Amino acid sequence: MTQDLSPLAAMDQAHALHPWTHFDSFETEGAVVLTRGEGVWLWDDAGRKYLDAVGGLWCTNIGLGRADMAQAIADQALKLAFTSTFVDITNAPAARLAGKLAELAPGDLNRVHFTTGGSTAIDSAYRLAQYVQAARGFSGRTHVIARKQSYHGSTYAAMSIGLRDGDRVPEFTYKSDTIHHVSAPILYRRAEGQTEAQLTDALVAEFEAKIAEVGAEKIAAFFAEPIQASGGVLVPPQDYLARMAAVCRKHGILVIADEVVTGFGRLGAWFASQDVYGFTPDMICCAKGLSSGYQPIGAVIFSDALWDDMRGDKWFTSGYTYSGHPVACAAALKNIEIIENEDILARATRAGALFQEGLRSLSDLPIVGDVRGHTLIGCVENVADKATKRAFPDEVDIGRRVTHAAEARGLMVRPLGALNVMSPALIISDSEITQIVETLGAAITAATDDLV
Ligand code: PLP
Repeated sequence: MTQDLSPLAAMDQAHALHPWTHFDSFETEGAVVLTRGEGVWLWDDAGRKYLDAVGGLWCTNIGLGRADMAQAIADQALKLAFTSTFVDITNAPAARLAGKLAELAPGDLNRVHFTTGGSTAIDSAYRLAQYVQAARGFSGRTHVIARKQSYHGSTYAAMSIGLRDGDRVPEFTYKSDTIHHVSAPILYRRAEGQTEAQLTDALVAEFEAKIAEVGAEKIAAFFAEPIQASGGVLVPPQDYLARMAAVCRKHGILVIADEVVTGFGRLGAWFASQDVYGFTPDMICCAKGLSSGYQPIGAVIFSDALWDDMRGDKWFTSGYTYSGHPVACAAALKNIEIIENEDILARATRAGALFQEGLRSLSDLPIVGDVRGHTLIGCVENVADKATKRAFPDEVDIGRRVTHAAEARGLMVRPLGALNVMSPALIISDSEITQIVETLGAAITAATDDLV
């Protein structure tokens, strides 16, 4: 164990198993104990200050430390800290939030099923898809198609639907008999000379071929993040998702948009599927920005058409103790009110333009192979050779090196293999954006210098 950990970090190191942790690194380095947050800023237990370019974990959309959020949470905790929403009970914040989400969601997505976070929203959407297909007389439609490099969460079903490099380990099992994957839209690594339109055509053709191979009559749904976030901020060609959705419609396959990251303003819209990428899904899974991380909550928002087909003299046997938790719903309602009152979607669009422009100024650095993103989600991909796009060997762990160099300079960016990814709070100021860009540039340079 390390000697110079604070008492809290030492206690954590002695007793905690963190999510998605690396045993050896944790046992040698311990964890940073964060104690305070305000806007995009964090402080640790030694009083060190960091600019949080990660936005928690793609989630602190309205920024940390808001007194009005704390008040809304406290008020609801005092008034009614808990009721379940099982069967025929509900509470005022859950009812109001369902109505508000129906108002914000596109098309006829007017029905809301609350969950505890993103993974449970994905699990629930999977069940809903099977349920509605069966109700429509297609009980054989139990399979799903998703994309490689997607991350849909960490429960058994969500981990099986996602398929990122390195996530799958031999110690765990994954559901594979009914889950299929097609290629992700990876513009940076497309074949030499291939246009975006040709890439889209190839991906759509691969999707059609996969549907034919599995059999459309077996497929319930297609899961897709509008931008594959944890898979490496994969920004698709503009018409790719609408075309994939059109293929789904043709084959009776439901379209499930995983907007856990892209929802609630990250791309300058409430939801990216319709407003940014021009398709209306049958279901939207959301979490994270729904409460800006102030409370754990998720939801599946689905269409009236699905509801009409699934209703009847029967049970829907799925849900969680904390589905529709009144304090979490009160936090989400306040969060949405703040986004509306402070015009945060428009602010995100404006800040996002500056952020993207700033990040692109890093393209000239010798190891920055690609800079990509949309509005307030972005990443740099570090490569060993820019001309050939040759990757660094895994053991170089370049993303982590850059993250460490950034952390030493008071900036938090997330390593993802060779990438460094960012999704700052949407209320970020122009000078804070400049600070991210300059510090990240300095960190990449320091990490590069360290290699020689
Ligand atoms: N879907 C996407 C796109 C995500 O990025 C995540 C988490 O990062 C999830 C689902 C899972 O959400 P949660 O960790 O709240 O279960």
